[in-house]
Amino acid sequence: MDQGHRPQVITGNWKMYKTLDEALTFVRDLLPSIQGIRSTVYLAVPYTLLLPLSKEVGETSLFVGAQNMNDASEGAFTGEIAGKMIKDAGGKFVLLGHSERRRLFHEDNAFINRKVKRAISDQLQPILCIGETKKEREEEQTKEVIRTQLCEGLAGIEPQSLSDLIVAYEPVWAIGAHESATAEVVQEAHRFCREVLSELLSQPLADQIVIQYGGAVTPSNATELLMQSDVDGLLIGGASLSLESFVKIIHDSNQLNP
Ligand code: PEP
Repeated sequence: MDQGHRPQVITGNWKMYKTLDEALTFVRDLLPSIQGIRSTVYLAVPYTLLLPLSKEVGETSLFVGAQNMNDASEGAFTGEIAGKMIKDAGGKFVLLGHSERRRLFHEDNAFINRKVKRAISDQLQPILCIGETKKEREEEQTKEVIRTQLCEGLAGIEPQSLSDLIVAYEPVWAIGAHESATAEVVQEAHRFCREVLSELLSQPLADQIVIQYGGAVTPSNATELLMQSDVDGLLIGGASLSLESFVKIIHDSNQLNP
């Protein structure tokens, strides 16, 4: 299956930025600038913004979601949030296994796997983030890391439940860096992700799964990255905080959309 059959999905990851006023201003300006576009736009926002922003976006091609969730359905877990609460607040999707969560909050593949399962049962679309560190790339372990993160992250899940899974390949060394990974490096990693997905699920399902790239994406490199045959969208941190750069990237992706 060629890229033409997969939709382009552009996700902004706001991390721990934006107050309610800032977020509402951003979304009110964003909506008219993306009217009629064919790409789908996601915003992964702080929990406090889920409800007001989901009301603001209404029935448009802009969807809001969360950046994390707990693996339990509810319970005595001070400071945590459940998938069903995200859903309740209007969230459509959830980022899981972002490298900042893995590194700063010591999340391992087994924990992330439980979260993927919970997200599916709570009817949230999981965006599973994977990617190697600089050291792992230098030691030529990239493929092994990708394989392990995908296999352990998706272990024990029925393939049919994963039809709307998004995988975000985010090499840790490119996140927040000055330069993204080269288009060639990204295509090679994405092709490999799809190979592993086809072994884990099935070829037709793997061909359907959107694989986003993340790591120092800007308006100047987005088109080249999106032109790669296995790159179906982008996960954007820094450049999603500025309306101008986010809109430019969305428009670039729309040009390439079937
Ligand atoms: C991210 O946080 O997922 C990310 C890709 O960040 P940035 O675009 O700033 O590199």
